[in-house]
Amino acid sequence: MNARYHININGIVQGVGFRPFVYRLAQEEGVSGWVNNGAQGVQIEVEGPQTNLNRFLARIAQEKPTLAQIDTVQHEVIPCVDSSGFRIQASSAGEKAQTLISPDMAVCTDCLKDMRDPQNRRFQYPFTNCTNCGPRFTIIQGLPYDRPSTTMGQFEMCAACRREYEDPNDRRFHAQPIACPACGPHIWLEIKGQRIGERQAALFEAAQLIRNGNILALRGLGGFHLAVDPFNEKAIACLRRRKHRLEKPFALMIKDLQAAEAFVDLDAHSKTLLCDSRRPIVLMPRRAESKLAQGLAPGQSRLGLMLPYTPLHYLLMDQGFDALVMTSGNLSDEPIAASNEEARERLAALADGLLLHNRDIHMRCDDSVFLSTERGPLPIRRARGYVPQPICLSEPVPLPLFACGGQYKAAHALARGNQVFLSQHLGDLEHLETLDFFQESKKHLQQTLEIEPEVLICDMHPDYLSSKWARSQPMPRIEVQHHHAHLAALHAEHQLKDPILCLTLDGSGYGPDRTIWGGELLYGNPLEYKRLAWLEPVPMPGAAQAIYHPARMACAYLRALLGPDWLTAVRFTSMNEMQLQTLDQMMQSGLNSPLTSSCGRLFDAVAALIGLHESVTFEGQAAMALEALASGMENQGRYPEQEGLGPLRWHPLIEAVLEKRANGVSGRKISADFHADLAQLWCSACIQVRQQTQCNQVGLSGGVFQNSLFSRLLIRELLQNHFEIYWHQKVPPNDGGLALGQIAVASSLLRNGRVPCVSQYPVA
Ligand SMILES: [Zn+2]
Ligand SMILES: [Zn+2]
Ligand SMILES: [Zn+2]
Repeated sequence: MNARYHININGIVQGVGFRPFVYRLAQEEGVSGWVNNGAQGVQIEVEGPQTNLNRFLARIAQEKPTLAQIDTVQHEVIPCVDSSGFRIQASSAGEKAQTLISPDMAVCTDCLKDMRDPQNRRFQYPFTNCTNCGPRFTIIQGLPYDRPSTTMGQFEMCAACRREYEDPNDRRFHAQPIACPACGPHIWLEIKGQRIGERQAALFEAAQLIRNGNILALRGLGGFHLAVDPFNEKAIACLRRRKHRLEKPFALMIKDLQAAEAFVDLDAHSKTLLCDSRRPIVLMPRRAESKLAQGLAPGQSRLGLMLPYTPLHYLLMDQGFDALVMTSGNLSDEPIAASNEEARERLAALADGLLLHNRDIHMRCDDSVFLSTERGPLPIRRARGYVPQPICLSEPVPLPLFACGGQYKAAHALARGNQVFLSQHLGDLEHLETLDFFQESKKHLQQTLEIEPEVLICDMHPDYLSSKWARSQPMPRIEVQHHHAHLAALHAEHQLKDPILCLTLDGSGYGPDRTIWGGELLYGNPLEYKRLAWLEPVPMPGAAQAIYHPARMACAYLRALLGPDWLTAVRFTSMNEMQLQTLDQMMQSGLNSPLTSSCGRLFDAVAALIGLHESVTFEGQAAMALEALASGMENQGRYPEQEGLGPLRWHPLIEAVLEKRANGVSGRKISADFHADLAQLWCSACIQVRQQTQCNQVGLSGGVFQNSLFSRLLIRELLQNHFEIYWHQKVPPNDGGLALGQIAVASSLLRNGRVPCVSQYPVA
C-alpha cells in the first residue's frame, strides 16, 4: 500500500549537502519523488510503501549531514501521483528564503585524507573541501546559496570536478566551493611586491621565512593571520613592535593534540573543544616548563591554542612546525585584513612576506575564543564557526529588530521570529575602520538572511559610536541600559521565564543616574529590572584615562577610605607629590572624574596597590595579572555580613589589602585573599536580596566573569548557600553578548506595549 508525504525541514539545511543526502536516502529506501530548497527550508515529496516512508523520515533526523542543523521537520500526507525515480530540483531563486547559512567549518578528515594521498588528484591542494567542510559564511555574497553567488563564481569547474559536483553519490555533490588544482584557486608568495614562488614552492619558501625569524602574513578563511616562530624571542618582539600590540597575549596554532600537551594542561573539555569542527582558540592553563618565548604571553597564566582548520594551515604545519604564533592580521584594534590589496597596503609594514591566494573572502571573520573552565567552555569571542548560527528565543520578536551592541568587543544582532543572529566579533568601535566594518557586516547579514529591521536598539551611553550611529538613523529606536542588557542576554540564552537576580560585574556601562555602573546586583527580566545593590561608588580620575592607569583607581579607593590623609598614608606609586595633588583636586572638584561602581576597576586598584601594574596597555590587563598571581591558591573569604542593601561597602577588602601589605604578606596571598573576600561580598549581597525577593536564581554576567578564579570561588560560595546559578554558554559574558540582551529587552517592551513611540527607554 503506497502513500505520499510532503515534508518541510527547517534549520541549517542549505550548503551542507542536505539535498544529496535526501537523494541517497530516497534511493536506499526505494521511494520516489523530489527534493528542493524552497521558501521555508528544504521541501521534499516522497512516495512509496508506508513503512519505507516512515523509516525515511526517521533517518533524516538520525543521519543528517555533519554540518546540518535541523530545527523542525513537518510532514503531511498528500494524494499519491504514481511518481517514479527521485529528482533533485534546482533552488528556486527569487523566493524569500528562510533557510540558514552554515558557518565556516574546518577541513574534514576525508578531505585531509585526499590531500595526503599522493595518488589523489587533490594531493597537497590547499583548497580541498566537500559538503561536510570548508568555507560558507565568508564566501557567500547573496542568496540562493549557489556557486555563482559565492566568491567561487569566477572559477569554472573542470570536467572532473563537474562530474563530482553532479553525482549525487559523491561527497562533493553540490559542494559550491568545490575545486581542484586544475580549475580552482591557488597560492603564491610575495616579498616586497615580487612574486617569489607559486603553489608548493610558495609554501616551502614561506616556511623558510618563518624559520629564519621573519613574520609571514597568510590569507586564511576569514582574513589574514600573522605567523611567527613562537620560540624565537626576537621575532616575537618584532611582531609586537610592528603590530603596536605591546603586551596582549598571542595565540598559537599547534600541529595536533600531542603537541599541545607540551604547552598547556589539557583536560577532556578542552580536547573536545579544540577538535570541534568549529575550531575555536581555547584558553588553557599554561605549563611553566614550556620553552616558548617569554614575550608570547607576558604575565599570563593561560595560553590560547587552536588546531589547524584550513587545508593551507595543515600544509604549512606539515613543513615541520609543532606550533606557530597565529595572530589576526591587523594593526592593533583595526579590523582583520581580508583582501590581497588590503594586505599589500596594510600588512606590508607588518610582515616580511605575504602568502596570498585568489579565493576571495567576501565577509571577514576572526577566530572564535573560548575559556576552558571546570564547568565547561565559556565563550570569550564569538566569530568563525559560530556565525551566523542563530540563538533561539523562547518567544518570537514582534518585529524584525536590529541591535547595535556596545562599544568594546562589539557585535551587533538581527532578529526575526524566535531567532537572533549575532554578528561576528567586530573589535572595539573606536575607529572609523571598525565602524565601516560594523555597517558592512550589518548589510551582509541583512542580505544573506533577508531581514529588514524595523526598530533599532542601542546602548543608552551618550558617546558609544554605535549608539551615535543609531541616533543618526531615521528609524524608531529603543535605548537600553548596559547592565540590563547583560542580564537580559543571560535570561534569553537560557530561555528563562521568571525574573532572576543577576550579578553584572564588568568594566563600565552607562547608568541612568549618569554614573558609571559595573558592579551591580540587579533583579529583573528583559522587561524590567531593579538595581538592588552596588559597590559604593568612587571617582574615576581622568574618566577613561583611569582604565589605562590602575594607579589612579588605587588613589580613588585610598582617598575614599582614608579621607584627606590618603596622600601621606600609603606609598605605592611612582607618581610624584604634584601628580598626586592634582588627582586629589580632580576628585575633590569632580572635574573629569565620574563616579563609578565598577567591579573591574576595583580589581585594577588592588593590582596597583600590590605593585603589579601602575599603568596598562589594554583594559583588564591588571586584573588578569592579579588573577594569574593567585593561580592555584584558593582561600576562604572573610567579609563581614552587612545589614540592608544599596551601596555595598568594599572598604573591608581594601583595608585587608593594606594591612597585609604593611605586614609583608606576599602579593600572591594578598591577591588570593582578595578574590575570596570579593566572592564573599557578592554572595552575602545575594543572600540578603534573596530574603527580600524570594528569588533563588542568580545569573553571572559581565566581563569580570572571564576571571576564572573569581568565578570559581563565587560559584562555590553560592552553591554552598543553595543558589541556582546561570552563566553564559552561547554568548560571551563580556560586551560581545550585549546585542542579544538588547534584542530580548526591546522584544519584551514591544510585546508588552511599553514603547508606543520608541525613542525614550523607560527606566524601572
Ligand atoms: Zn571535506
Ligand atoms: Zn577541478
Ligand atoms: Zn558590559
